[in-house]
Amino acid sequence: MQLNLYNSLTRKMELFTPIDPENKQVTFYSCGPTVYDYAHIGNFRAFLNADVLRRTLESIGYDVKQVMNITDVGHMTEDNLADGGGEDKMEVATVRLQEAKKSGTLPSDVDIDPGDPLAVAEFYAQAFIEDAKSLGIRVVDDAKIDASLLPRPTNYIPQMISMVQSLVDSNNAYVASDGVVYFDVESFPNYGELSGNTLDALRSGEGGRVSKETQAVKRNPADFMLWKPDATHVMRWPSPWGDGYPGWHLECSSMATELLGDVIDIHSGGEDNIFPHHECEIAQSCCASGCDSFANYWFHTRFLLVDGGKMSKSKGNFYTLRDLVEKGATPAAIRLELIRTHYRSNANFTMQGLKDSQRQVDRWRRLAQWLCEHGDVKIDGDGPLQNTVQNFKSAMCEDLNVAGAIGFLSEAVSNYAVDSVPESGCGCTTLRDEYNALLEMDSVLGVLNLCDTACTDSLDVSKIDCLIEERLSARENKDWSRADEIRDELLAIGIAIKDSSDGTTWTRIVQ
Ligand code: AMP
Ligand code: ZN
Repeated sequence: MQLNLYNSLTRKMELFTPIDPENKQVTFYSCGPTVYDYAHIGNFRAFLNADVLRRTLESIGYDVKQVMNITDVGHMTEDNLADGGGEDKMEVATVRLQEAKKSGTLPSDVDIDPGDPLAVAEFYAQAFIEDAKSLGIRVVDDAKIDASLLPRPTNYIPQMISMVQSLVDSNNAYVASDGVVYFDVESFPNYGELSGNTLDALRSGEGGRVSKETQAVKRNPADFMLWKPDATHVMRWPSPWGDGYPGWHLECSSMATELLGDVIDIHSGGEDNIFPHHECEIAQSCCASGCDSFANYWFHTRFLLVDGGKMSKSKGNFYTLRDLVEKGATPAAIRLELIRTHYRSNANFTMQGLKDSQRQVDRWRRLAQWLCEHGDVKIDGDGPLQNTVQNFKSAMCEDLNVAGAIGFLSEAVSNYAVDSVPESGCGCTTLRDEYNALLEMDSVLGVLNLCDTACTDSLDVSKIDCLIEERLSARENKDWSRADEIRDELLAIGIAIKDSSDGTTWTRIVQ
């Protein structure tokens, strides 16, 4: 099976062909979080879609080497100007945490020196890794074996300095009168190819917002910072251009080249990364390597909206994974909710949507358990799940049509009544084969096996079933107080039950 993937560089759907088709190797660089705070669910939408792309490639036989950076320096508050203006987000975090410490509002789990930017970065990096692991993001598991797959820019300063030097040597970069090293965008004719921003448009648009002093020293307002000498910056390193720090765009170019090679197969990020971040990465990398391409396929996830608008702390609709887990949702349901809308459309996060995903995940989990329990039972023919694998994968291979793939899966799942005892058929496959087909499809969605890996997701399904049975016999014996007690016990562990003529069913409560 082959993957059709939309390439944001060519703005076309393309048949995915890797650089090394014979060995079925894929190199994949994903822009990761800047660790100045907990990652929010919008960030995770971008990371999860990259993970679904990776899993889809793996499901059709590719071996994917994925790198995701964890930015711990140089991402400025005004990076939208491609200029390196504003303050370093890590330094802003240290000020925020130091103030919180003074006023006694530093959260008790932040057990670090709030004035030390590297300690702050490492604290939020670990929180990110924990959350990403709960959500089944595979690159985090790979990094347990090879830590370089989650690189921190502060460990690659020598490589960045040598990339800047080579760009200065090739006249693609220059030292301006303020001592800052800038990339000369006019030296790279393809600047603007990814974002569609022409230099003329940039001159009259974004460039106009750059401070007059900075404008004056740059050859072109769109020239962007590679290295900034700054003796006051808390995080600074010696360089041929003075003690200072690297530009954010440079970091990704440098780490991608160092860890994956001059030209890579796929590069991912959120839609806001297209300009200036990825546009600048392409310019630097192509000029430094002398290659025509930096990444052959560019994959961008559109923004997650919440309740139809921007997620904002003031509106009270700003969520981290931890916030939603506290409300009773499991990481598996959160994962499903964040991947189910096509990555090239805005997704609208609502609590109702999350509740629906929770119900769906719980149903799949119960089915997985039931198929396992009755694994030896023979069925007629191949069974609905086995018959669905091809359609499921074909949908995923059409530019990651997750909703279509889930549609096929749901149809197959609806053939099973998990509260009944299965009748034995006379075919040569069993319910265990059905279970394996379910797992094969889930290897792409990545929700069923999260139960074991997520520390917060410890629902004991057999305990729930036992309590429901005990409650039924209490009711049969007219022991109403015991029956009510059990209902409350279930409520206390976040489970609501519903009685009907078909029996008792349960759902997880998401507040
Ligand atoms: P940052 O930590 O700010 O560097 O962002 C990390 C990643 O999250 C980037 O790839 C952003 O494009 C992406 N991102 C930020 N906000 C959202 C959002 N609301 N929806 C989807 N992706 C987002
Ligand atoms: Zn990046």
